[in-house]
Amino acid sequence: MALKFYNNLTREKEIFTPIDPKEVRMYTCGPTVYNYAHIGNLRSYVFADTLRRALKYFDYNVKQVINITDIGHLASDADSGDDKMTKGLLREGKELNLQNMRLLAEFYTDRFKEDLQKLNILTPSVLAFASDYINEDVELIQRLEKNGFTYKITDGIYFDTEKFPEYGVLRNGIQKNEDEESRIGLNSEKHNPADFALWKFDPKIGYPSPWGQGFPGWHIECSAMGIKFLGEQFDIHTGGIDHIPVHHTNEIAQSECATGKSPFVKYWLHHEHLDMAGEKMAKSGDNFLRLKLLEEKNINPLAYRFWLLMGNYRTKMNFNYEALEGAQTALKRLFRAYIDLGNDLGTADSDYQNKFKEYIADDLDTPKALTLIWDILKDEKVSNADKKATLLDFDKVLGLGLDKLKEDNISDEVTAIAEERELARKNKDFQKSDELRVQINILGYEIKDIPEGYKIFKI
Ligand code: AMP
Ligand code: ZN
Repeated sequence: MALKFYNNLTREKEIFTPIDPKEVRMYTCGPTVYNYAHIGNLRSYVFADTLRRALKYFDYNVKQVINITDIGHLASDADSGDDKMTKGLLREGKELNLQNMRLLAEFYTDRFKEDLQKLNILTPSVLAFASDYINEDVELIQRLEKNGFTYKITDGIYFDTEKFPEYGVLRNGIQKNEDEESRIGLNSEKHNPADFALWKFDPKIGYPSPWGQGFPGWHIECSAMGIKFLGEQFDIHTGGIDHIPVHHTNEIAQSECATGKSPFVKYWLHHEHLDMAGEKMAKSGDNFLRLKLLEEKNINPLAYRFWLLMGNYRTKMNFNYEALEGAQTALKRLFRAYIDLGNDLGTADSDYQNKFKEYIADDLDTPKALTLIWDILKDEKVSNADKKATLLDFDKVLGLGLDKLKEDNISDEVTAIAEERELARKNKDFQKSDELRVQINILGYEIKDIPEGYKIFKI
């Protein structure tokens, strides 16, 4: 059975064939770490993780790279506005220097990694800071310069989109909104409104370069890190749909013009946004929800993962608590039913497995794949042991952590975590206590605080 993905480069569902059959090479645009990730951002990584798991399920080895944007991303995805990391330092009242920028980045990256773990997202093969690859950015810009695609103006070195006739192939048919267009056009020295910065000068802080001190443009880091870890051409690039018109369009232009090879990436996969009350969730907006807040409302992060899987990745999802609580109830029902299947492990039922494969192969149709869970649980022709094996098999793609659920009475492991949590609470370390609660949830239990201490329930 062949995997098919909707490729935004061709705007068609295509059969997936990797460049190198031995290893699929995939790049996922990472977070800009001037603040916490919100649950909309996390949709990006649940999607990429599901995709990666699906590739593995179809027997491909996968190398996945996620960059951490800790420099150069301006408030607008184009080249205007303040640098987001600078904004982060100002917000936190820290002095503006490279060392503080790195410390800020490390703090939010650690929080990001915690979120990934809570969502049962597999650790990528490479998770690296953009600021560690400035030399690679400079070398790539030098290649572009040598090939005649750059020009210099007062505030930086720019890419000349006029010189690349295929510019914008990814965003064809997608209208950039006029606002963005006019903001891009603001810099009157640019030869063309779509031209974008490869290197921005900054006399106060920044990195040395052949053109003067400053920062690489945001887009160049993804080209440079993609090429460094995955080669001049690779298989899959993922990100949110907001990246199509500017960031990914520019990545293609600068990569192909530097290397002379096309396509830079064979399959471009983009997920839709998470909205709240009809508006895109944004770090700069009022509708900024963190995973931690869901936990404070007693929602298991895996219920958020489960809810996302109930929608297709190419469908916009509108966040509301009722929907999420519904997903949590369903997930608890699944955990309960899974535990009740007992200890024996049989073999995965091939009929259900084939159906599951068929749905996943169809551009990751997780909503349909999830219906098979309830179908098999009801099916009296399948033994409990085989049901268990089939659900575990599905979970290789769904990533709901069934393999971590425990049977029987409360295990020593859960009791030990509960005790550690009790100590954290006594010490008023509520962050740690919340994290331990999630660990308990992941193991299939719930902990309730009572006047005498706590009580543990199976979920
Ligand atoms: P950022 O941290 O802003 O660089 O974004 C990290 C990832 O989150 C990118 O792939 C964005 O496309 C994605 N993203 C941003 N906002 C949303 C949203 N509301 N829903 C889904 N994905 C989003
Ligand atoms: Zn990127």
